[in-house]
Formats: sequence, structure tokens, C-alpha cells
Amino acid sequence: MFEYQQPDAAGHFGVYGGSFVSETLTHAINELKAAYAHYQHDPDFIAEFKSELAHFVGRPSPVYHAARMSREMGGAQIFLKREDLNHTGAHKINNTIGQAMLAKRMGKPRIIAETGAGQHGVATATICARYGLECVVYMGAEDVKRQSPNVYRMKLLGATVVPVDSGSRTLKDALNEAMRDWVANVDNTYYIIGTVAGPHPYPMMVRDFQSVIGEECLTQMPEMFKSLKMVASSGDMQPDAVVACVGGGSNAMGIFYPYIHHSHTRLIGVEAAGEGLDTHKHSASLQLGSPGVLHGNRTYILQDDNGQITETHSISAGLDYPGVGPEHAFLKDIGRAEYVGITDKEALEAFHYLCRTEGIIPALESSHAVAYAMQLAKTMRPDQSILVNMSGRGDKDIGTVADLSNADFFCRPSCQGQAVKGGEHIIQVHK
Ligand SMILES: *Cc1c(COP(=O)(O)O)cnc(C)c1O
Repeated sequence: MFEYQQPDAAGHFGVYGGSFVSETLTHAINELKAAYAHYQHDPDFIAEFKSELAHFVGRPSPVYHAARMSREMGGAQIFLKREDLNHTGAHKINNTIGQAMLAKRMGKPRIIAETGAGQHGVATATICARYGLECVVYMGAEDVKRQSPNVYRMKLLGATVVPVDSGSRTLKDALNEAMRDWVANVDNTYYIIGTVAGPHPYPMMVRDFQSVIGEECLTQMPEMFKSLKMVASSGDMQPDAVVACVGGGSNAMGIFYPYIHHSHTRLIGVEAAGEGLDTHKHSASLQLGSPGVLHGNRTYILQDDNGQITETHSISAGLDYPGVGPEHAFLKDIGRAEYVGITDKEALEAFHYLCRTEGIIPALESSHAVAYAMQLAKTMRPDQSILVNMSGRGDKDIGTVADLSNADFFCRPSCQGQAVKGGEHIIQVHK
């Protein structure tokens, strides 16, 4: 067992993290640090956060034993932490509630956020509606086109969505634009960052809000083992491995953090290997990136020899990011967490497998974690266990999956009652 005290007062996780911001933001960042330092120990703040999680989000989310899947893999027992059952369909809401509560107390009536697939945008717009805060969401113009249902959701919730036309017109450009807005409007504006990235104190603060996931598991796993009459092989009634997908890294930090001092439990982060780690089409910053500064912190980033950020790719928009939270960079370097890759194809197979075997439609992001757990389970014994963070549900992804599976998603008038695509049935399911 070892002492884990991260980050230091300046937000450093070893050589990573820190705060690289322009002069104009220094004051806003200091104000945020002071507010969080105060409210994180404030009993009223903590009580309200817990109450919001219970009554608005529906926590605690269950831990579920995927019995059929475990049996078919023939190895370790696989458990799913059901963040997909949260209000708005993913873990993101845990963090937006905490930060919006902070914004209210800091007297900031205007909220800004960046979003890629739109999940963080929806979670932010949701809590702004609940608290009566103005909400502006920056989103790459390309993503606005690709994710139109989430754009409409944000509008229904009363948010303004601003398409960003610069750069690759995706998440990293939206992040730059949100930072620019913040610089111009620091007095009345709070910036809710959606993952464990950005300048200090964001990586620490987002981790703290998300760590409710792992905290719940620490009490749920022993109960689960008892009800299954299983004796956990680790001896401490906790899983042998915890597996989570890593985009920016917030759902993974949320489940890893409370387990860091449980040295029997392996922590495994799954990055998007896209079309393969030997191609240029992936988002595996920790495995194939190198240290550099991006979006206000030092971490592993995907960059070329000139320090230019390279294009990334993943089937899942939520994992398609050229950086990663600095705490993951640190956990990798000290060897406390391992990072592996799952390709688009493997993730898609796991997606279909979970749908049909367990009756759960996972987010494509979470499907990466499921895919790796399936491979890992086969190498383990039935008295061993793997806990997978099911970061979100897959409703948002069914259009993408239908396209990739070459199926007709909606039954158009032209195909009603008829066989389509060379005699196959209307909904052609991948198998
Ligand atoms: C946004 C998102 C992710 C990736 O973000 P992290 O910060 O790495 O957790 C993963 N899963 C789902 C369902 C998401 O919406």
C-alpha cells in the first residue's frame, strides 16, 4: 500500500498537469481554486451535491453481474457499473452538477461549455435549465452536423449552441473557442469543462465529482460478492481489475480514484485504437503520444515532430480527443494503471454482443471497455472478477451503428413491407 496524494498545491501530478493559461485568465483560475478549496469541505455544499445525485440523477447507479456474458467467456466474472442509467444517459451529469453548484455560489449567471458528441453539452444544458442559468455551448461545425439529435436536445433545454468553424471543426476547436469566450467574459461567466483536462484545478475537481462512481463500487462490490456467495480472489472483497474507456479520462478517473490504494485491483484504461495502433487513425494519446502542453495542462498528446496536434479518429466521438487528463499520464508513468487499445471493429462487435447477450445497449465509448473486459476475462479464472465502467447508454449511437452495419435505420416509406438491400430484411443485424 502506498500514499497517494495528488495533485500538489499547484496542480501537478508528477511532471504533468499544472496551469498554462494567459494572463487574463489567471484571476479567474485563482478565484475558482479558492471557491473549490472552500466548498469542497462545506457541509451544505456536500449535502446538496449528494441530494442532487440521489434525486435528479438517480444515484446510486447499480452494479450488475453480466452472468450470461461471463459464462460464455468462460473466465472471470464480469460486473457492469451502470452509469448508463443516470439521467441524461452517461456519467457526465455527475460533474456538471458539481460545477454548476459552484457557479451559483460564485455568483456567475452565465455558463459556457465545449462539447464533441454533444453529451457534455446536453448534461450542461440540463443542469442550467434546472438552476436557471444562461447556457452557451461551443461545438465544432462538423460535430453539429454529425450529432444533430444532441444539438436539438440542447436547444430544447434552452441552451444556445455555437458552431465553431475553425481548424478541424471538432472538439479541440470548440475547446479553444470556449477558452476565448471565457477570457472575454470572466466577470459573469463560469466555464464547465467536461473531462479531467484543462488547467488546475479542473482535472482534480472533475475527478473529485466523478469519484462518486468508484466510491459506490467500494461498498457495492462486497455486497455483490456476498449475494453471489463468491469469495473475491483478491481477499479484500474488491474486483481483480477495473476497466474503463479513456477519452479525456473522466469516467475512468471517477472509478479508478477510490481504488488507487487497493493495490490488489488492476486499473486498466482503454483508449480508442480506431483503425489500428499501427495506422494514423486512432486516439491513443497515452500509448502513442508524447508529453506536451494542450488546453492548459501538460500531458500526453498526439503531435507531429513540429508539435502540431495531429488528426485523431475513433468510431466513438467521445473518445476522439488528441490529449488526455494529466492524472492518467502520471498513473501510467508510475505503473499504477495500464492502458490498452481497442479498435473500432472490436468495439462494434462488443456493442452488438452486449445488446444480444445482456439486453443492454452500451455507448460506443463504453463498448471499448466491454470489448477489452471480454478479452481479459478469457485469460482469468471464474473465481476472479472484472468491474467495467458502463459510462453511458447507446441510444445516441444507433444511427452510427446502423450505417456501419449497412442496415436501414428507419423504415422509409419506400421500403415498408419489402425486403431491401439484396433481399436482406429491413433491420439487418450484424452477426
Ligand atoms: C464523453 C464520454 C466518454 C469519454 O469521456 P471521458 O472523460 O474519458 O470519460 C466516455 N463515455 C461516454 C458515454 C461519454 O459520453
